[in-house]
Amino acid sequence: MTATTTSRSSLTAYVVSLAAVAVAVVARLLLEPLLADHLPFITLFLAVGFAAWYGGRGPGLLALVAGAVAAAFFLMQPRYTFAIDQTEFQAGLVLYGVVGFASTAMFESLRKAQRQAEEQRRRLEQEVAARRLTEQAFAEQAERLRTTLASIGDAVITTDLAGCITNMNAVAESLTGWTTAEAMGQLLDAVFRIVNETTRKTVENPAFRALKEGVIVGLANHTVLITKDGTERPIDDSAAPIRTKEGEIVGCVLVFRDITERKQIEQQRSDAVARTESVWNNVIDGIITIDERGVVESFNPSAERLFGYQTEEVVGQNIKVLMGEPYHSEHDGYHANYIRTGQSKILGISIGREVEGRRKDGSTFPMDLGVSKFLLGERRYFIGVVRDITERKRAEERLRQLAADLSNADRRKDEFLATLAHELRNPLAPIRNGLHLMKWAGSDAEAVERSRSMMERQIEQMVRLVDDLMDISRINQGKIELRKEHVSLGAVIASAVETSRPLIEEMGHEFTVVMPKPSIIVDADSTRLAQVFMNLLNNSAKYSERGGHIWLTVERQGSDVVVSVRDTGIGIPADKLTSIFDMFSQVDRSLEKSQGGLGIGLSLVKRLVEMHGGRIEAKSDGPGRGSEFVVRLPVDVEASRPQAADKQEEPAAPKSSLRILIVDDNKDGADSLAMVLKMMGNDTRTAYDGKEGVELAGEFRPEVVLFDIGMPKLNGYEACRLIRKQPWGRKVIVIAVTGWGQEDDRQRSHDAGFDHHMVKPVDPQVLMKMLAGLQVAKV
Ligand code: ADP
Repeated sequence: MTATTTSRSSLTAYVVSLAAVAVAVVARLLLEPLLADHLPFITLFLAVGFAAWYGGRGPGLLALVAGAVAAAFFLMQPRYTFAIDQTEFQAGLVLYGVVGFASTAMFESLRKAQRQAEEQRRRLEQEVAARRLTEQAFAEQAERLRTTLASIGDAVITTDLAGCITNMNAVAESLTGWTTAEAMGQLLDAVFRIVNETTRKTVENPAFRALKEGVIVGLANHTVLITKDGTERPIDDSAAPIRTKEGEIVGCVLVFRDITERKQIEQQRSDAVARTESVWNNVIDGIITIDERGVVESFNPSAERLFGYQTEEVVGQNIKVLMGEPYHSEHDGYHANYIRTGQSKILGISIGREVEGRRKDGSTFPMDLGVSKFLLGERRYFIGVVRDITERKRAEERLRQLAADLSNADRRKDEFLATLAHELRNPLAPIRNGLHLMKWAGSDAEAVERSRSMMERQIEQMVRLVDDLMDISRINQGKIELRKEHVSLGAVIASAVETSRPLIEEMGHEFTVVMPKPSIIVDADSTRLAQVFMNLLNNSAKYSERGGHIWLTVERQGSDVVVSVRDTGIGIPADKLTSIFDMFSQVDRSLEKSQGGLGIGLSLVKRLVEMHGGRIEAKSDGPGRGSEFVVRLPVDVEASRPQAADKQEEPAAPKSSLRILIVDDNKDGADSLAMVLKMMGNDTRTAYDGKEGVELAGEFRPEVVLFDIGMPKLNGYEACRLIRKQPWGRKVIVIAVTGWGQEDDRQRSHDAGFDHHMVKPVDPQVLMKMLAGLQVAKV
């Protein structure tokens, strides 16, 4: 299009130049009358100049040439030829040519300059337009950047190359406490002050490293931003250099955010994890998780302790390895059934199902198991919580045993009470009969004496029963103390034999005693040891048919002495040889077979023998084949000399003549004792309560007072204290007579001022001996 325009316009210029030439020729011809033949080119100069001005070099030269030709033909003489003979014309032509050429050249360069100027103007205009566009785009971009920065949730600060702040967004303003206006141009360090949360040391500003090294820098953890007003907030940030298109660093952009909330959540999360972990590690129960196939996934430290496996040894193994039989063998079938039917016997049941666990070393232990299910995504898992219940089982077993023992003891106690009632009632009938006899016998001295001695025997029996009872109870409470001394075993046995002989003789038994000489010395409480042999001898006498044979043999065996009491009696079944030593145990309880005992004698014997450092054993070939009781005691090897125990029996107690006051709320007890003592030559009075006793003592001035302890109005202790306060009461012998014979009872009566403590029923023989001793002391 432009080319067409150009060719048309240049064609126009050529046509215009020829037209100009034609116009110039015509004009010259018109000037003919004025100029004649002179200056034929005069108008043509103008035409050439016009053509060159209008069309440039080409049309100018065309007009020059066409003008020369037209001048030669139309204007110069001879006209209408092209011959130029006249010098004037030739010179004119040369001049015309030179001037025409020069003006063409001149116009041409003029045009060129004009064109260039035009061109330059156009270019300038284009440039201006382009710049305007760029500026507009830039402004748009800047606006976009500004709104972007403003809408970013993070704080953003930009700096120049020197680290001075060039911009910051609203979030940065609120986090740092600086306004953009205040911060502009400030060094980044002044606005963005950061320290390490724990060390409180200033942390290197990441922006400076980003500027220096040209890399993106993330902030170290645990950084705290100190705001303008000094508040601190934990932050998380990063900095990156800003580069031009050419890669040149021109500044830095710092992006940061407040992580207070995130840190709190992180802290809560890590606390929760730590809590769960410490539960896992410290719970007493073993916790095991398994997957759907029964493969162990995790194993806590308690499970390690329980099963003796390390976690890594069990994880990946089938849970079966931890099961004892029959659970181990049954597991696969049970598991397959659960997978198929979804039915479980143990799932979801609270802990308490008892199964057998199997340790690494193969040993097994009882445990409680609770299993629950949980899902991770689509997959099912199971948690087993196990608790070793060995101790509990043991305790249960102990408890069962205890309950059995208790019910056994309870049964024996019931039997014992029945026996006791029977044994106490037995002597009562003859005693009552004896009393009737004495009442009616009148002057029949022989009958009175017979019933008296019968009653005496019965009472002896009752006293023995009660003594045994008290002894066993004291032994059981650990309150019996042995008064040990070097004694001759011979003397001890003699005393026992002495006591038992009446019964042995009464039963018509033959009795053989075999004892070595010289006598053996033992470290023993002679009374208690005599009690042992007396019991054995009495049993032999009781549990043998009339006319049996009893042997008592003493034999030295090394550092021991062995005393055997053997009989030809009813014997003992093999299964009872040990249990007859238990309290209240009797081989045959049927009353008709009972031989007047409570089943505590042997128990007492065994305890006493053991207290002497010895052992006792029962032997028998069975019912009807006799029994043997073997007592083994350590010999006191050092002391071999005959001891005090060898002394002859003391002479019968002499008669005493003392003023004696007896105070007891049991009137019969008081009166009967007073009568006995009176018969022995003493002057006696009785009172039936403490108060009366003290008053009577003031009148009677006794030398000896026998006080019961538990009495109405004033008890024995109080009464004794009152007497001791009287001037005459200090020298009086005050004796406590009570059913309580324990060591602390004795101590209490001693503290109350009693001189002696006697246990009821008082044996008049013993009392007589004691009073005789007092009289001796008085003399
Ligand atoms: P008790 O004689 O009061 O019943 P013991 O404790 O002395 O109580 O004796 C317990 C039981 O041992 C007696 O009941 C009797 O069955 C049996 N026993 C004791 N000694 C003999 C013996 N020498 N021969 C046969 N049985 C005996």
